[in-house]
Amino acid sequence: MAIDDPQREPRAGAGRAPDVMRPGGWVPMREYREDEAVDFAIVGTGAGGGTLACKLAEAGFSVVAFDAGPYWRPLEDFASDECEQQKLYWTDDRIVDGDHPLKMGANNSGRSVGGSTVHFAMVSLRFRPEHFRTRSTLGYGVDWPIDWREMWRYYDEVERTLHISGPVRYPWGPDRGRYPLRAHPLNAAAEYLARGAEALGIDWTETPIATLSAPVGRSHPCVYRGFCVTGCSTNAKQSVLVTWLPRALKAGAEIRDLAMVGRVETKNGRCTGVHYHREGAWRFQKARNVVVAGYAIETPRLLLNSANQEFPEGLANSSGLVGKNLMTQLNQAAWGQVDDEVRSYKGPPSLAISEHWNYTDAGKDYHGGWSYMSQGPLPQVWAKSLAGGRGLWGQALIDEMARNNHSVGLKMVGEVLPYERNRVTLADETDQYGLRIPRITFSMGPNEQAMIDHAVDFMDRSLEATGARERWKEMDDTAHLNGTARMGDDPATSVVDADCRSWDIPNLWICDGSVFPTVGGVNPSLTIQAIACRTGDRIAEMSRKGEL
Ligand SMILES: Cc1cc2nc3c(=O)[nH]c(=O)nc-3n(C[C@H](O)[C@H](O)[C@H](O)COP(=O)(O)OP(=O)(O)OC[C@H]3O[C@@H](n4cnc5c(N)ncnc54)[C@H](O)[C@@H]3O)c2cc1C
Ligand code: SF4
Repeated sequence: MAIDDPQREPRAGAGRAPDVMRPGGWVPMREYREDEAVDFAIVGTGAGGGTLACKLAEAGFSVVAFDAGPYWRPLEDFASDECEQQKLYWTDDRIVDGDHPLKMGANNSGRSVGGSTVHFAMVSLRFRPEHFRTRSTLGYGVDWPIDWREMWRYYDEVERTLHISGPVRYPWGPDRGRYPLRAHPLNAAAEYLARGAEALGIDWTETPIATLSAPVGRSHPCVYRGFCVTGCSTNAKQSVLVTWLPRALKAGAEIRDLAMVGRVETKNGRCTGVHYHREGAWRFQKARNVVVAGYAIETPRLLLNSANQEFPEGLANSSGLVGKNLMTQLNQAAWGQVDDEVRSYKGPPSLAISEHWNYTDAGKDYHGGWSYMSQGPLPQVWAKSLAGGRGLWGQALIDEMARNNHSVGLKMVGEVLPYERNRVTLADETDQYGLRIPRITFSMGPNEQAMIDHAVDFMDRSLEATGARERWKEMDDTAHLNGTARMGDDPATSVVDADCRSWDIPNLWICDGSVFPTVGGVNPSLTIQAIACRTGDRIAEMSRKGEL
């Protein structure tokens, strides 16, 4: 065992937390007693929970944020090695079923202080405005209870905080100001997207991403090595771990790492605190409010596992919707071979994008939007694609891997509609803490199939237009999980209101991707962080008015 192993021993404690920007460094951390109620106990420190922890601490609330994962020091703990970095994923047992069982683990959930943003691909996009009102404006799905204009202000706040690098003029959507930092230069894979889009007569642009194109504070700019989805060891990546959480600590929040919350306690219809497992024992933290922000699988799991006499169907579940309407995003791809030495894996994986089919509805025989991006898989991921997508194995796989420097591809991020049948429930099996594990049921419908067919065909034609040969289609991939505790205007058809406050328990809040009523055709993390910023401001306002 290493002397300082953050997967075995908590790092935050004794009045200090790791300084993620300085090898071996520490920053002061306030600590709260368990038997004195803090204003907010937050479960999960990812895109939703970490952002909200910062906003609430800066608004003057006492905050303890729990994460089941370790407190990494990226500069010291992260290796440029796909195997080693498996440590970032949530790989506990989960049961998957349905017609299209989801692949869990690396591609869709993280366990770490900072959440899945520690290994996300950094693509940072705003929803199309109509996607906040799909039912009213486009005739499918369900409306959000928040207006896009309000979200636009919060997107500004998040983009400034993450120092998003992006183009001077973004081709789609309402006018917006410039991105805080200039766009990154295209890598060769991105140039193939650009050439194909131009040949087919549609717009493309540099992808807005959360890695620095200029030095900011103690962070150096991106050095284009391409290990972003296994955790960036330079801190150029603007994850929640290196952005919102250091601010939260400075404002007086406490972060408890390696702290698995197993149950939210209630009494007389209100939350009283959380039971959590840390350093080999179950403990209880009293709290005046509880925020659940554990990601679209662990959030409903915790709410359902917290069922008690007062709430026998689980917390916040009078609508019966906790766990339902699970949505992923379609992540199919088209690939081909070219003469140039492309080395797609150099630099952040998605440096060019087209949102053409996210903003264009004419010519579709399905509902919803999709965007597509250039790709840069690392060797293990590429081998899995070739084995799973083309059935290559043995010498055939080795031969194909040897040609990897000449492979080029495009991948979609496509909208999946909300269906109640797609859901998270509790299995009978239990985990290492004795907690029932989640069962994840997922099936696509004809709408998803029609979108995949259109998107993969279009991306294939785009590659063909660049001269790519030996093209093939990867038809089986998904990414990003959302839904399962949707927000809305009506307690009968939603779990939380627009402020992420549970309809049933006034001091229980849910603030992560679970609250999405629909997922849109872009990656979700910017929207999750924008919702968390809005929730923080709304809670502060409600507190001022005595409405908490
Ligand atoms: C490989 C990969 C690439 C991605 N790329 C992009 C991208 O380019 N752009 C984009 O927008 N999105 C991307 N995403 C998705 C994005 O990272 C997630 O949508 C986002 O982080 C989800 O935010 P969240 O707050 O819901 O959950 P998370 O960020 O996952 O945070 C949840 C946290 O809660 C903790 N937790 C859960 N349950 C408990 C419990 N019971 N007790 C204590 N702690 C708990 C977990 O350990 C975790 O740290 C990517 C995701 C992956 C996996
Ligand atoms: S390419 Fe940039 S963001 Fe990605 S791991 Fe390297 S330095 Fe970090």
